[in-house]
Amino acid sequence: MLAPGWRNPFKAPGAWRKANLHAHTTHSDGRVDLQTRVNEYAAAGWDVLAITDHHAITDLKGLQAPPGFVVLPGAELHPGNPFGGDRYHLVCLNVEQARDARTAAHPQEVIDEVTGRGGLVYFAHPYWCKHKLRDFEPLSGYTGVEVYNHGCRDAGRPDSGAQWDDLLAQSGVCPGIATDDCHGPGGASDTYGGWTWIRTEERSREAAIEALRGGMNYSSSGPEILALEIEDAVLGGNGKPQVATHRITVRTSPVREIFFVSDVSGSCCEPDPEAARGGATIAEGSFVVRPGCRYVRVEILDHAGRKAWSNPIPFAW
Ligand SMILES: [Zn+2]
Ligand SMILES: [Zn+2]
Repeated sequence: MLAPGWRNPFKAPGAWRKANLHAHTTHSDGRVDLQTRVNEYAAAGWDVLAITDHHAITDLKGLQAPPGFVVLPGAELHPGNPFGGDRYHLVCLNVEQARDARTAAHPQEVIDEVTGRGGLVYFAHPYWCKHKLRDFEPLSGYTGVEVYNHGCRDAGRPDSGAQWDDLLAQSGVCPGIATDDCHGPGGASDTYGGWTWIRTEERSREAAIEALRGGMNYSSSGPEILALEIEDAVLGGNGKPQVATHRITVRTSPVREIFFVSDVSGSCCEPDPEAARGGATIAEGSFVVRPGCRYVRVEILDHAGRKAWSNPIPFAW
């Protein structure tokens, strides 16, 4: 059965706001200043931008954001890793105070400090960090994971779907985000390639943070998820015992494949594989949930190799 308290972002009131939640400026190793960064993302059609320079919060005072454009204060903090893996990259949002986490701080201390101040904490690019389950499992209280980091594409490691699934299967359900992690100027290879759609009624910092905290978002590097419906269904029959479950149906922009990814059993919807190779597309898929699973998430792939990821839908049986 659906886990109690889950809300379907595709049924929520409001509109989708396009967000880049990971951006650098000349305050750390970015190559454009804060005002230019904001102007470029606003001009490119984004609604929300988080400034996440390394080690310290970038002061937003004096910034002139276009009307309706939301800028979130934040930082990328780097506590050491006592569990054997590489240093963490934690994208921290909605905080105005943070200390350089390189010295002394245990990662759990950093997560607790940021969330204790009302902030959100995401594991950035875990595939690029070569993080394994041992690096996540001892930690708690974080908000989610970057499932896609466009900047890491230049290193061949943009997609952390496998690391997300490890985490989801073992440590509970948490939302994903897709980001640019931009350092170069607008138009560079690490800009405009990964974004998070946030469902909000208002264009405000508070609305964006509340929606992200509640998982009312999905991630994309191109294609769109247009609708996601869940209805009751029954498995079994024909002599086998019948079990109540759910059917998940999605509608998407034209794509090559629609995957339903679960900790138990998933599936792939595609046109006839030969037709898919020839360029045929689909725009709808459905999946009957296997009783006992903890989550199902939707991942879609278009013919240009770009993807979108729903957040995991949690189940409790
Ligand atoms: Zn990083
Ligand atoms: Zn970064």
